[in-house]
Amino acid sequence: MLFADVIGHDDLKKRLIQSVQESRVPHAQLFLGPEGSGKLPLALAYAQYINCTNRSETDSCGECPSCKKFMTLTHPDLHFVFPTATNKTVKQDPQSDLFITEWREYLTDCQGYADLSNWFTKLDIENKQGIINVRDAATIMRKLSFKAYESEYKIAIIWMAEKLNMQSANKLLKLIEEPPEKTMFILIAEHQEELLTTIRSRCVMLKVNKLGHQETQQALIDRLGCDEQQAYDAAALANGSWILARHYAQDIEEEKLYAETFQKWMRYCFRGAVSELIDLVANDIKPLGREKQKEFLEYGLNIFHNSLLFNNNMSDDVMLPADEKSFTKNFAPFINTKNAAKICELFEESINQIERNANASIVFLDDSFKMSKLLRIK
Ligand SMILES: [Zn+2]
Repeated sequence: MLFADVIGHDDLKKRLIQSVQESRVPHAQLFLGPEGSGKLPLALAYAQYINCTNRSETDSCGECPSCKKFMTLTHPDLHFVFPTATNKTVKQDPQSDLFITEWREYLTDCQGYADLSNWFTKLDIENKQGIINVRDAATIMRKLSFKAYESEYKIAIIWMAEKLNMQSANKLLKLIEEPPEKTMFILIAEHQEELLTTIRSRCVMLKVNKLGHQETQQALIDRLGCDEQQAYDAAALANGSWILARHYAQDIEEEKLYAETFQKWMRYCFRGAVSELIDLVANDIKPLGREKQKEFLEYGLNIFHNSLLFNNNMSDDVMLPADEKSFTKNFAPFINTKNAAKICELFEESINQIERNANASIVFLDDSFKMSKLLRIK
């Protein structure tokens, strides 16, 4: 992957490039940022740049033998570790190497903008919890003990490092503390608080922020051929995630459904309309399935954030399609300093629960009753 293929993050690209040019590449780095911000694409572009034999001041060449192998993710000095679980093909002892073909296919399809739920869908392990287990740590240890095959640096990319279990994290930690020569670790994570402190403290951290509205909009126009309005709306709803932006641009109907359902939901909550709430959860929310329920909650969070903008006289910063903007403007007075943090926590916790396979009806009904109370706090 070229740096040019990574959306935004010009300052980070410069920093990474400079570290290579000045030969002070840290041996262990943590790329930390929200889903869809482009951590993995940045890591892939960086890895390619380090080993490119004909790099320029701003990017790798894309044509040398090393670049070609990096672009197909087949370079012998590029190693991946990622969460896995058993599925129909791998019935026991799962580890990254057993899924490398699927991994390459997946990264090619999503152009590096990977996320856990789509990856788990690809592996058909949707209802299990993928982890990075100790076999992965042992394998990477063995691989890195060899000399680099073709290039200067051996690079290990550990995707979603918060999925390391205790055993694998400890094993990996030893490796990071006493790294084999010319080895570079790039750990990628989204939730700092879920990482072991010992791992975090041994890595140089690179914060990857969410994308801006304008760069997302522009990327939708350039890469997906969206028209200006469609790109504006999808970028507004994506809230800095390229994964969501791409999704909304391709499926605007779905987004409209979220808007409609959310508006109904909040009205019923406010009125404390119990039987309507039960119907809504059973007929409109439950059938969405786990992934869409998560997106629906993300959609809600976005509306709460925009409500706060309205309340703080920052309505110019509200990025929403016109009809949703007018709903949010009327809804905003019910979100205030006393309930905003609690509401956001409630939704974030529900996203976690849905991820962990909690019963959706219970989660959403519980949210409904809590929201009924929270919306009445003045
Ligand atoms: Zn090259």
